[in-house]
Amino acid sequence: MVPPERTVPDRCPGVLAVHEAADGGLARVRLPGGVLSASQLRVLAAAAVELGDGHLELTSRANVQIRALQPGAPVELSERLYAAGLLPSITHERVRNILASPLSGLDQYSLYDVLPLAGELDRLLCATPGLAALPGRFLFALDDGRGDLESSKPDVAVRLVDRGRGELLLAGVATGVQVAVERVAEVMVAAAEAFLAVRGEQGSEAWRLGELDDGPLLVLKRLGLDGSPAAVPVGVRRGPAAAGVFEGGVVATVPLGVLGAEQAEALAESGDEVRVTPWRSVVVVGNGPVQRLTAVGLVLEKASPWNGVTSCAGRPGCGKALGDVRGDARRVVPGWSGGGRVHWSGCERRCGKPGGEFLDVVALGGGGYAVDGVAMGVDEVRAHR
Ligand code: SF4
Repeated sequence: MVPPERTVPDRCPGVLAVHEAADGGLARVRLPGGVLSASQLRVLAAAAVELGDGHLELTSRANVQIRALQPGAPVELSERLYAAGLLPSITHERVRNILASPLSGLDQYSLYDVLPLAGELDRLLCATPGLAALPGRFLFALDDGRGDLESSKPDVAVRLVDRGRGELLLAGVATGVQVAVERVAEVMVAAAEAFLAVRGEQGSEAWRLGELDDGPLLVLKRLGLDGSPAAVPVGVRRGPAAAGVFEGGVVATVPLGVLGAEQAEALAESGDEVRVTPWRSVVVVGNGPVQRLTAVGLVLEKASPWNGVTSCAGRPGCGKALGDVRGDARRVVPGWSGGGRVHWSGCERRCGKPGGEFLDVVALGGGGYAVDGVAMGVDEVRAHR
């Protein structure tokens, strides 16, 4: 189904284009590949404490947000991020939306370490002036072969098929085009340029490739690539990285994706590199001690009811919210038995919802919720799972 035609440019927030939310300014910091050094994580956590509400929000695109910024704080924030190497481009900061398999290079399912490719793609993207015009929603993804990023619905993706080649996917559709790893960044950037060109030809304001008429086919033609977009499944599909300790590091679920300063410090102490995932969790690279992580409320148990639970901001952060979804989720979720994905939303827009199937919990106002469309009080939500 082709979504309705866009008539306005997207308003995705960035660091320089802060969104004015009900609780103050909201800045979104792009993290290509989700990668942060320990020192960069400390910079972000300190900025959240000193300029915002004290927390880092992890997003479904492996970025982080700082909210409740007061007037003047965005300038201070941008200066701190620039000094920490987290704002390498003024013109392209909102379009650096690059996912990479978070466990890449760390376990047996990784055909190829795509994190260096994410860095290469980011540099080439920022060095291509025309791509500053990409919509802030346009998403790139580099899948190391495990099939974990499909549900994020990237516009342009490459999924490794062996150590030397990857398959190009456009708007989630396999194209049959294989690209040598040395050319992956170049081809992905060319595909994004082709998207903009096709969008211009169609006189469209589309934010996503899948919104254009015959978008994948026309992009392939512009690239001069001999493929045929067809929804042919490619390889295996693995779900989100499971919480717990593994050979290459630790996957820690961050309840509701809200990371406090103490938790951020515990992560920074546990490894030199932290990778934010698209699933409200983080990967700590290496085998440092993990006791401190659980002591500050990060979740390492595979059976925890927090795994797979996400929410939007709700009250008080969002003026449209009909409930304090995070507060209610914190009361309800610990009593659940776990399993499956659940998304709590403050209204019908369902911001930040996961891809694929999930239990849909939407605030109705007055303390009530619709759970998969069935109205109930919050106590009944507690008993629902
Ligand atoms: S889903 Fe509704 S309440 Fe939640 S952040 Fe989006 S607009 Fe606000």
